[in-house]
Amino acid sequence: MSKVVRGKYTSEAVCGFNHRTAVEEAARCLLCHDAPCSKGCPAGTDPAKFIRSIRFRNIKGAAETIRENNPLGGTCARICPYDRLCEEACSRCGIDRPIEIGKLQRYAIEQEEIFEMNILEAPETVQDEKIACIGAGPASLACSAELAKAGYQVTVFEREEKAGGVLTYGIVPSRLPQEVVEHDIRQIEKLGVKFQFGKEVNVCELSAFDAVFLGIGLWEPKLPEIDGIHLKGVYSALEYLKEARIKKEGFEKGTKVVVVGGGDVAVDCAVTAKLLGAEEVRMVYRRTLEEAPGNMTEFQYALSLGIGITTNMAPSALRGKEHVEFAEFKGRDGLSELKISCDTVIFAIGQRGADMGKAMEADNVFAAGDIVNGGKTAVEAVAEGKAAAADIIKYLDMKGVK
Ligand SMILES: Cc1cc2nc3c(=O)[nH]c(=O)nc-3n(C[C@H](O)[C@H](O)[C@H](O)COP(=O)(O)OP(=O)(O)OC[C@H]3O[C@@H](n4cnc5c(N)ncnc54)[C@H](O)[C@@H]3O)c2cc1C
Ligand code: SF4
Repeated sequence: MSKVVRGKYTSEAVCGFNHRTAVEEAARCLLCHDAPCSKGCPAGTDPAKFIRSIRFRNIKGAAETIRENNPLGGTCARICPYDRLCEEACSRCGIDRPIEIGKLQRYAIEQEEIFEMNILEAPETVQDEKIACIGAGPASLACSAELAKAGYQVTVFEREEKAGGVLTYGIVPSRLPQEVVEHDIRQIEKLGVKFQFGKEVNVCELSAFDAVFLGIGLWEPKLPEIDGIHLKGVYSALEYLKEARIKKEGFEKGTKVVVVGGGDVAVDCAVTAKLLGAEEVRMVYRRTLEEAPGNMTEFQYALSLGIGITTNMAPSALRGKEHVEFAEFKGRDGLSELKISCDTVIFAIGQRGADMGKAMEADNVFAAGDIVNGGKTAVEAVAEGKAAAADIIKYLDMKGVK
C-alpha cells in the first residue's frame, strides 16, 4: 500500500542556490552586449541585467531589477518554462550549457525576502481615476501592479478567498510553494492595490470605475460527451487540484486513479494523487508521448513516482452504478480496447472561459491572460497584463484630454 506523503506534496522538490553557488553561476555569464536572454523573457524581467548584478555581488540591485520589471518575479522563478524562453536564448547554449537563469532569479528574490528589502512602495501622487480588476490571477496582478505604480487607485475583485488564481488553486505546491506566491502578492499590496475576496463580479456592477480589467482565466471544465461522465468520482483537472489544495487532510484523492490527458496539467493531477497516497495512478493519453504537449522532465518525474503512462488510447465510456468503477478506452488503431478498474477519473483535457457576453463591447473594458490567449503560461499572462495596463493608461490619458 502506498504511503501518504503530504509533506512531499507541500514541500519544494528543487533546491536553490546559496550565495557562493549563485555568484559562481553568474560568473559564467558572457555579459553579452545584445543580451538574447533578456529578449527571450516575455515579461521583460531583464535577466542580463540582474545576472550582472549578482556577478558583482549586488544582490539588492538584482532583486530591484526583477521586482521592478516583473511583479511575479518569485513565482516566475519557480514555474517558468525557461528551457523554451530565456535559457534557450542564452549564448552559452552554443558553448556548454545555458546560465541557470531561473535559479538565479529565485536566489535574488529569496534574499529580498530574507533581508526585507522593501523595493516597491506606493507612489506619492495619486490619480483621480479608479480601476477595477476582475480576478486575482497573474494577468490581473501584473495589470494592477503597473497601474498602481502609475498612481491609479486599483481594486482587485476575486471570487475565491485568496489571490493567485491558478498559482494558488491549481499548481502543485511542491513546484510552487504558496509562500512564494504570497510574498509576491505582498509586494503588490505595498503599491497600494486593494483586494476584495469572496466576490464574484461582472462588468455591469462596476460602472463606478473609470476602467475595468478582466483577467478571469479559464475555469469552465471541458469534459467529453461519453457514457458515465456524470458518475461520482469523475473530476475535471482544476476541480481536483483545487480540492487537493483547499481540503488538506479531508481530501478524497482516490485509491485507483486514472488521469486522461498528456499535458503538464495532467501530470500535475497524477503527481498530486500519487503524493497524497493514491495506490495506483495511471495517465492515459490519446497520442504518443513524443506528441504530448507536456514537459518530458515532468513525465520522467511522474514515472519515477511509479505513475503508469498509457498512450494511443482515448476514453470511450465510464462504468459504475453511482460511483465510477471502470474506465473504458479505444485505441488509435481503431481495434484495441482497454478497461481500467478505478474509483477516480480526472479529465485534464483543457478548460474554457466563462462567456463574457457583451462585456467587451464597452470602450473602457480591457482583458488579458488565459481568457484572451486561450491558456498559455503565467509569464505570458504577466506580460499581457502589463501591456493591458499600458493600454488603460493611454485610454485614461486620452479621456482626460477630451
Ligand atoms: C494545473 C496547471 C498547471 C500550470 N502550470 C504552469 C507552469 O508550470 N508554468 C506556467 O508558466 N504556467 C502554468 N500554468 C498556466 C498558468 O497558470 C496560467 O496561464 C495563468 O495562471 C493564467 O493567468 P490568468 O490571470 O489569466 O488566469 P487565472 O490564473 O486563471 O486567474 C483568474 C482568476 O479570476 C478569478 N475569477 C474568475 N471569474 C471571476 C469573477 N467573475 N469574479 C471574480 N473573480 C473571478 C478566478 O477565481 C481566478 O482566481 C498552469 C495551469 C494549470 C491549470
Ligand atoms: S544570453 Fe546567457 S551569457 Fe549572454 S548575457 Fe544572457 S545569461 Fe549571460
